Amino acid sequence: MQKKYITPPDNCTGCGLCASICTRNAIRMVWSPEGFPVPEVNSEACINCGLCAKQCIALEPSAEYHDDITSVTSYGGWNKDSDIHLQSSSGGIFSALAVQTITQNGVVFGVKWQDKLTAVFDKVDTIEGLAQLRGSKYTPALAGNVYTEVLQELKSGRKVLFSGTPCQVHALRKYLRKPYENLLTIDIVCHGSPSHLILEKYIQEHEEQSGKTIDHVSFRDKPEGWQNFHVTRHYTDGTTASLPLTTDTYMRMFLCDRALNKVCYNCPYAHIPRQGDITLGDYWEVQKIHPDWPLHKGISAVLVNSEQGEQALLQLGDKIELRKEPFVNIYSGQSVVYVRPESEIPNVRELVLKEIKTSALADIHKRFGNSRKIGPFILNTKSLLYKIVFFPLYLADKKKRKKRRASL
Ligand SMILES: Cc1cc2nc3c(=O)[nH]c(=O)nc-3n(C[C@H](O)[C@H](O)[C@H](O)COP(=O)(O)OP(=O)(O)OC[C@H]3O[C@@H](n4cnc5c(N)ncnc54)[C@H](O)[C@@H]3O)c2cc1C
Repeated sequence: MQKKYITPPDNCTGCGLCASICTRNAIRMVWSPEGFPVPEVNSEACINCGLCAKQCIALEPSAEYHDDITSVTSYGGWNKDSDIHLQSSSGGIFSALAVQTITQNGVVFGVKWQDKLTAVFDKVDTIEGLAQLRGSKYTPALAGNVYTEVLQELKSGRKVLFSGTPCQVHALRKYLRKPYENLLTIDIVCHGSPSHLILEKYIQEHEEQSGKTIDHVSFRDKPEGWQNFHVTRHYTDGTTASLPLTTDTYMRMFLCDRALNKVCYNCPYAHIPRQGDITLGDYWEVQKIHPDWPLHKGISAVLVNSEQGEQALLQLGDKIELRKEPFVNIYSGQSVVYVRPESEIPNVRELVLKEIKTSALADIHKRFGNSRKIGPFILNTKSLLYKIVFFPLYLADKKKRKKRRASL
C-alpha cells in the first residue's frame, strides 16, 4: 500500500504541525542528522489517514507573494521602558505587546530556553514570566504542543498573543483553520534557522576551554550597544563571558549562512504579504537616516499587516515610541528578509555540517565562511584569486546584489 504519511520533505521547516495534527500521536519531532527538527512516524501507531501530508506546509502550493513594497505600513519603534528596551533584542516592541496582552488577562506564546541546548515554545501569563521569552534564541525552536494549546486558549475566549518565525505563524494559522478575533500574531523577521549542531558544538567548545558548565547563552546583549551586540555565556557558577557579534564564533557561523535549514535559503514565507498581524525585526541602518534615535538601546522595524495589528499597536499608546517610516528605508537594511530570497543553497553547506562533528567552529568559519566550492577547490569569494579566476561568477553575484538594491 502506498504510504500517505509524511516523510520529511526537503523543504521541511520543522514547524511541527504534522505532529500536532496527528490524531493517533504517531508523529514526534526529532533532530535530523543535520541538526533540524523533522517528523518521525511511528508506523505501528499510524493508520495511514494522510492528514499530516495533507496539512504539511512544505507540501502545499507556495504562499501568496507580491513585491508591491509601496503597500506596506511600517514604523521604526522602541519600548519606552528603558530596562525592558535594553533587555530586548532590538526595540522591545514584543514585550510591550506581551505586557498589554497579559494585563488584559490574556496569554502569550513565545520561545524560551528549556535547557542550554534547547529552545521551546511556552505559554506565559504573568509579567514576570515574560523575561524568559524575551530575546532571540538563534537556534530552531521546538513547537511541542503549542498549536493545540493556542487553540484551547482561543476557544476559552482568552486573548492570545503568539510570536514566532513566519513559518511557525503560517503553521499556526493552518492548524486553527479559521481566523479568531482574540488572536494576535507576531512574525519575527527571520533570515534562517541555523543547524542545532552549531549550538551543541559551541557549548562543548566553551565548556572544554573554560572547565566550567554553561547554564545558557544570551545572544543579544547590549553592553556596547545594539549595533555591536554581544553574545554572553552564562556559567552555572554565576560568572559570564561575552564577545561582540563580530568575534563570537556562534554569531559568525550563524551570520555567514553556510549551515541554515535548506528551506530557509528560498523561504516561502519571509516576504510580503507577511504572515503575522505585526512583523518585528531590527531596523538595521537606521543610523544613516535618524542618528538622533536611541540607537544604543536598539530600534525595531515594525510592519503592520492587518487591522488587528494596527489596533493592538494603537492601544499601546505612550508605552512605546512609534514613528512612521517609508518601507524602503527599512527594507534597504536587509532586503532579503522582506522580498522572497532566491539564494542558492551554498555548495559548501554539506561540508560545513559534516566538519562540525570534527573541527573547531573557528576553523570551519575560516575555511568555509565566505567560500564557494568550485570543482575540487574551495575558494574564498572575497579573495582576489576568486575574483580573477572566476570573474564571470563574481560578476553575476555582484549583478544579482545590484538588481536587488535597484528594485527598491
Ligand atoms: C532564528 C532567528 C533569525 C532572525 N533573523 C533576523 C534577521 O535576519 N533580521 C532581523 O531584523 N531580525 C531577525 N530576527 C528577529 C530579531 O532577532 C528580534 O527577535 C526581533 O527584532 C524582535 O525583537 P524585540 O526587541 O521586539 O523582542 P525580543 O524580546 O528580543 O523578541 C523575542 C521574540 O522572539 C521570539 N523568539 C526567540 N527565539 C526564537 C526562535 N528560535 N524561534 C522563534 N521565535 C523566537 C520570542 O518568542 C519573542 O517573541 C531573527 C530571530 C530569530 C529567532
